[in-house]
Amino acid sequence: MARYIFVTGGVVSSLGKGLSSASLAYLLQSRGFKVRIRKLDPYLNVDPGTMSPFQHGEVFVTDDGAETDLDLGHYERFSGISAKKSDNITTGRIYNDVLKKERKGKYLGKTVQVIPHITDRIKEFIKDDVSKEDFVICEIGGTIGDIESLPFVEAIRQFSNDVGKKNTMFIHLTLVPYMKASDEIKTKPTQHSVKELRSIGIQPDIIICRSERPIPYEQRKKISLFCNVDIKNVIETVDVKTIYEAPISFYKEKLDRQVLDYFKIKSRNNVNLNPWKKITKNVLNNKKFVDIAIIGKYVNLKDAYKSLDEALTHGGIANNIKVNLVRIESDKLKVLDIKKKLKNISGILIPGGFGKRGTEGKIAAINYARKNKIPFLGICFGMQMAIIEFARNQLNIKKATSSEFGPGGNAIIGLINEWNKDGVMIKGTNKELGGTMRLGLYEARLKDNSLIKKIYNSKSIKERHRHRYEVNINYKDKFEKKGMIFSALSPDKKLPEIIELKNHPWFIGVQFHPEFKSRPLAPHPLFSSFIKAAKNHK
Ligand code: GLN
Repeated sequence: MARYIFVTGGVVSSLGKGLSSASLAYLLQSRGFKVRIRKLDPYLNVDPGTMSPFQHGEVFVTDDGAETDLDLGHYERFSGISAKKSDNITTGRIYNDVLKKERKGKYLGKTVQVIPHITDRIKEFIKDDVSKEDFVICEIGGTIGDIESLPFVEAIRQFSNDVGKKNTMFIHLTLVPYMKASDEIKTKPTQHSVKELRSIGIQPDIIICRSERPIPYEQRKKISLFCNVDIKNVIETVDVKTIYEAPISFYKEKLDRQVLDYFKIKSRNNVNLNPWKKITKNVLNNKKFVDIAIIGKYVNLKDAYKSLDEALTHGGIANNIKVNLVRIESDKLKVLDIKKKLKNISGILIPGGFGKRGTEGKIAAINYARKNKIPFLGICFGMQMAIIEFARNQLNIKKATSSEFGPGGNAIIGLINEWNKDGVMIKGTNKELGGTMRLGLYEARLKDNSLIKKIYNSKSIKERHRHRYEVNINYKDKFEKKGMIFSALSPDKKLPEIIELKNHPWFIGVQFHPEFKSRPLAPHPLFSSFIKAAKNHK
């Protein structure tokens, strides 16, 4: 049977529960165990798909097409395990399921209540789709003491009772602040948080203490005593300079060892930390760098393009160079400023996006990259904008647009069911007819002798999608005649997946999101190649 490790957080949010869980997953995997990581989110949205990046940062997409919390991206990047739909659960989804069942009369007239009906459904999710895993790490979102997360905490308490204490472990992550005025490290917030946790029936087995400075023995002893945890299980996590140091630092603190000891399991392999050491060295010490501009609507929000920032860094790791991200807000990018703003840039990237706001700045930047032969990568919306730029300026279709921006103009990008069978736009189409999002893995076939085929070194690829609109395939010949090649198509040849420019050193647009599949220990070929081109451009 799988062992379950529940990770909760206390005192404040953003302590790095996700990174701690992901690092633990790596260490256990490296020791030869099969691991799964899940996130239980206490908000009422059924999934984060409809949440604004302002609220929630990036929406991470899994192979099987789930729109999930961005922590699942961390999990994948650190553990190398692809997340699934069943790995992210929200309160909204739980209630949705329970209420649907209630409407169908499945509870046979009983009063439907948080305990046991909601908690039962949570427990089902925790166990769902687990087969040969040795460990399932479940991170509970939010902070202990929140009203919202109570049903989850109650459910994991019950779960531990159901499957036995020897098969479950509770890890609690807290803040141990340093008070400058008195030059002291304070354990009281941790004590209070653990007290709160115990008041709802959970005694932590390990406490991870997030701290700015190393925690002296005396303070550890205090935490151990007041929180009723073995001193060996009071583990510190001091701020690291780069997230890639996290697995190394948790290993030094023996987090994985303590977990195995708790479950009385012997390690199968020695942990291999070399890749992380190499990456950390590269990220921290590399003096050479390239400037890459990311032009998007949400660039000033730290987590809005999380996987993308990571994938670019991975591209740098592959090329032994530091990637300096220059974030440019598309709304504020004036067409006349482009030359000045992009002067020292070695590569331009337009990420995924929704809506018309800020598009003219993006299109002007693409024009600049095309004409000045600056390496360019357009992702999803970025590819669609590259199509519009090319149509307007090379095919002389001045009103080229996307039907996402409303009626009117010449929509080269649209919903597939907005075209008639000859590929002509049906005017005044009712948007409600629109297809839903294309989500998750889809295959693309790569054209012979294309740059993209060289990059992937494969005839066929599968990448993750998250979009509604498509480039109208019927324009293919027109574009290709002028030098923009549709270098990958869906297997039925109806949907353009990748475009590239013939007379340009590196100009690629992809309809999917390659950033979701890049990992520090296995940088994505597209990002490695993009950064290489940027390095050569410099
Ligand atoms: N808004 C575009 C669409 O829905 C692009 C989406 C994206 O970039 N992820 O097709």
